[in-house]
Amino acid sequence: MGIDSGRVSEVTNHSVPTDDPLATPIQYVSGVGPARAALLARLEIHTVYDLLWHLPRDVLDLSQVKTPKQLVEDVIQSVRGVICDKDARMTSTGKHMTSALFDCDGQYVRATWFNQPWMFQKLQMGQLILLAGKPKKKLGKWEFSHPTMQWLSDEDRDLGFGVIPRYPLTEGIRQAEMQKLTELVVAAYASQVPEHHYAKALERWKIVDIATALKQVHTPETVAEYFAGRRRLLWDDLFEFQLGLALRRRAWTTTSKAPSIEIPAKVDARIRRLFSFPLTAGQDQAIRDLTADLATGRAMHRLIQADVGAGKTVIAIYAMLAAVAAGWQAALMAPTEILASQHWETIESILGQSRVRRSLLTGRIGAAAQREVHQGLERGDLQMVIGTQAIIQEKVKFSNLGLVVIDEQHKFGVAQRSRFSEQAGFAPHMLIMTATPIPRSLCLTQFGDLDLTVVSDLPPGRQKVVTSRIYGQGSKKRCWDFIRQKLKEGRQLYIVSPRIEGGNDDDQQGAEQIYRELPRTELAGFSVGLAHGQMDPTERARTMAQFREGDLQALVATTVIEVGVDVPNATLMVILEAERFGLSQLHQLRGRVARGKHQGYCFLISEADSPEATTRLHSLEETSDGFKIAEVDFELRGPGDALGTRQSGSLPLKLADLTRDHALLLETREAAQRLVELEAIDRPEFLPLKVRVLDRFGQMMDLPRGG
Ligand code: ADP
Ligand code: MG
Repeated sequence: MGIDSGRVSEVTNHSVPTDDPLATPIQYVSGVGPARAALLARLEIHTVYDLLWHLPRDVLDLSQVKTPKQLVEDVIQSVRGVICDKDARMTSTGKHMTSALFDCDGQYVRATWFNQPWMFQKLQMGQLILLAGKPKKKLGKWEFSHPTMQWLSDEDRDLGFGVIPRYPLTEGIRQAEMQKLTELVVAAYASQVPEHHYAKALERWKIVDIATALKQVHTPETVAEYFAGRRRLLWDDLFEFQLGLALRRRAWTTTSKAPSIEIPAKVDARIRRLFSFPLTAGQDQAIRDLTADLATGRAMHRLIQADVGAGKTVIAIYAMLAAVAAGWQAALMAPTEILASQHWETIESILGQSRVRRSLLTGRIGAAAQREVHQGLERGDLQMVIGTQAIIQEKVKFSNLGLVVIDEQHKFGVAQRSRFSEQAGFAPHMLIMTATPIPRSLCLTQFGDLDLTVVSDLPPGRQKVVTSRIYGQGSKKRCWDFIRQKLKEGRQLYIVSPRIEGGNDDDQQGAEQIYRELPRTELAGFSVGLAHGQMDPTERARTMAQFREGDLQALVATTVIEVGVDVPNATLMVILEAERFGLSQLHQLRGRVARGKHQGYCFLISEADSPEATTRLHSLEETSDGFKIAEVDFELRGPGDALGTRQSGSLPLKLADLTRDHALLLETREAAQRLVELEAIDRPEFLPLKVRVLDRFGQMMDLPRGG
């Protein structure tokens, strides 16, 4: 699964002293030279060390070569045969196809290649070749499409072929060359890689030593060996990351004194009276959890995970008012201008004439107003501030910040959380909210240092959004007919486009064009507005206000409406080119139309006919459980898409497949926590480990050097 990113190499390239043999430039390894070294550099391989850590993406098990009779469909297997016929032609769909027939001791298999005309030349009649791949039965004969091939010489006839690692490559380097080079380097250097765990720990964690692990991963005798080696390397990644989190947590809880906030029954009742509805069981649970956290005198770090529309704002307001009642300042930070203003309006309407001194702080309120807010916060005149990242600017100082709520945490980077401690001079309580249901596995890595409350119920009377995928002209027409009917009944509509401006392609319209065209076509006679991220913010705010007031019947928008926008009468949503969005994002978007007393409808317009797109969109029609949807997204597209690219950048894990390796994730988490809880981590034998963790993650996690 592709979770590599620029950040990965940054955190895993440990600095190596120059007299270290592992620091030998790869160019000087025999058989490499400057030209090859330049190619390797493209793979971030500069030294022997880098090559050792250039890990196979998988292995090919050629230890058992099959006869055609033994083959089964769709499993990677290999056969050995002699080319006895070859052919090149154009298919009916206009692709070039090369095919070859292999004689495997009197049984035959076929192999095919598309758009690789040079294959025809490469395949020589009479050659002995080892083919590997997933065969399919076609017209009674096994066929390999684009098989992996090894040209064998006559001496190879009776050899077994072992387990072959396959590496990420760059143009100009072939798999076989990479294998050979790695084999050489492993033989010469692997045993010189120092072990940083002490022997007993290896035993306890059931992992092999590092030199063995590298040998097993690069030159495995068996598949089991490969996995044993991989387990060790993966262990290091996951365990050290978890150890970093555990150390950070310890630093927070032991050194960070936080205000001890009690919530008297009277205050509790007073806050609850502000809401016109009874709280849901989930909201009550969250409040119980945070009440307990606030009283400990140690900083709260709680993640509230609740689906779109579950009512997280109520929880946020409760926590802030509790802090204010105890004499502390409280801040709420939201990822966008729109969301911050909306929270501000909600809070205004709830607090009404209350004496809580509060203010909005965003980039938009003007320099003079901002300065006034800064002064108010520094002097302690202001008790509550709602805003965007403007809140964590350097110049913002608080007189007694006690509690911070971060809404839609997944939109922020990890580092931003620690800014508040600097501002407050100590660690304030942190309540972190997210509507993107974070897959459990990812939650444990990225958010492993947070306590978690999952709010799984919705306020009463919420219906599921009826979701339909729209494909083809007929279905599109019926969809618009339905929408016009509903608009006439008084409902409102969002039209979401994946981009602001269209591409050259006619079917790739942007929000701007759609906004111009719809009133002349599908939405003739209805009032339509436009909102996107590059508009003048004042104008956008005006449009949003008109839409909220019902003066506009339809709003063409980009994903600026993804989070938090709350217009209960808007119960219709059309998402254009739906296949371009992540599943969780689509789920968030349709959450916008599940707000009021009327049934919500979401139409996913998509002409994409790939099986993946169909599966994904279908899963949205089927389920309204955001958590399940996130898992599907995660499996199909990786964490980057599930969470937005910014977040995946901070995952240091190089070879973990967080879905598949979930058990190991739990194991490492527990081992890391134990080590820190028992204070074993402070013993001398663990010093090298601690240094490694600080080296790798200290900066990213803002760990204190003292540990
Ligand atoms: P989200 O969790 O997506 O941030 P919001 O806090 O915006 O959800 O709440 C969504 C809507 O539900 C708001 O209109 C809010 O007033 C309403 N709401 C919240 N809690 C309750 C409740 N306990 N009973 C009824 N309505 C509620
Ligand atoms: Mg919200």
